[in-house]
Amino acid sequence: MRKISIVLSLFILVSCAHESNNELTIFTSRQPQLLEPIIENFSQETGIKVNLLSGNAQELMERIDIEGDKSKADIFMTVDAGVLWQATERNIFSKTDSNILKDNVPSYLRDPDGQWFGLSKRARTIVFSNDQFSQNDFSSYEDLANPKWKGKLCLRTSKKVYNRSLIASMIDAYGFEQTQNVVSGWISNLATEVFSNDTNALKAVSSGQCGVTIVNTYYLARLLDDSKYDNLELFWANQSGRGVHVNISGAGIVKTSKNKENAQKLLEYLSSNSAQDLYASANKEYPVLKEADIADSIKDWGVFIEDDINVSKLGSLQKEAVFLAQEVGYK
Ligand code: FE
Repeated sequence: MRKISIVLSLFILVSCAHESNNELTIFTSRQPQLLEPIIENFSQETGIKVNLLSGNAQELMERIDIEGDKSKADIFMTVDAGVLWQATERNIFSKTDSNILKDNVPSYLRDPDGQWFGLSKRARTIVFSNDQFSQNDFSSYEDLANPKWKGKLCLRTSKKVYNRSLIASMIDAYGFEQTQNVVSGWISNLATEVFSNDTNALKAVSSGQCGVTIVNTYYLARLLDDSKYDNLELFWANQSGRGVHVNISGAGIVKTSKNKENAQKLLEYLSSNSAQDLYASANKEYPVLKEADIADSIKDWGVFIEDDINVSKLGSLQKEAVFLAQEVGYK
């Protein structure tokens, strides 16, 4: 009897392993509800079941590391090129050679080595209070270092990777010293202590505690659903120069995945026209695919020139950006 049950459980194990070929698991730091409708469409079209395991990006990377060969992760998906770059440093991804991904994702929005791909764009730009200022008052991120903005600027903390990536893009454009002057100018212009998140910085602008801030546009889009924040206005920064700072959410195939072929199918699907509208608009972000539609609620902001620095540099210059922020006392 005992023998039979051992054989039986072995059989179950083997058949489970077989089943898993038609199953994928995404480890993601994104909100599951942003992905669920898209994943459902993918499963219906392909018959491939997709599981989502969501959590903190650093913890998920740690888990993939520790689990090694036994990890269920087929895809690691997260936000910010700085984090995707960290994942490549930790040797989490394998290379993916896909013409579909190369066609759909512009080269500056993916890893030059093919380890990860941008799936949505996140623009970080200037937002001001139109009770105090107008579009003509603004030009660039760098101009916010001018003493004329003294006591008017609110910023989110530099502990957040978003601002580190913005600083990294400036280091790439102007070098360390010039960037240090800019960021130090920002700090002298602060109206108050730095904020823990973009939403609180926006609320401080709206309430008049300060007049201007730098945030990711989807946070503004969310607040503008409430007419209470109607005095907040977006300004596209650096339009006569290098363009608005753009970051990504993105994903890559995990090195230890046993389902790389299907994982590639899913990444290709996420970059395709049928998924891009949904994926980007779910969080009021911008699609990476040129042909895809922009969410109605953000269409009024119009088109903008974007900084086309390869986003992987936002990762490789991250350490320098952290050091720079410390040097100028940007908490
Ligand atoms: Fe965010």
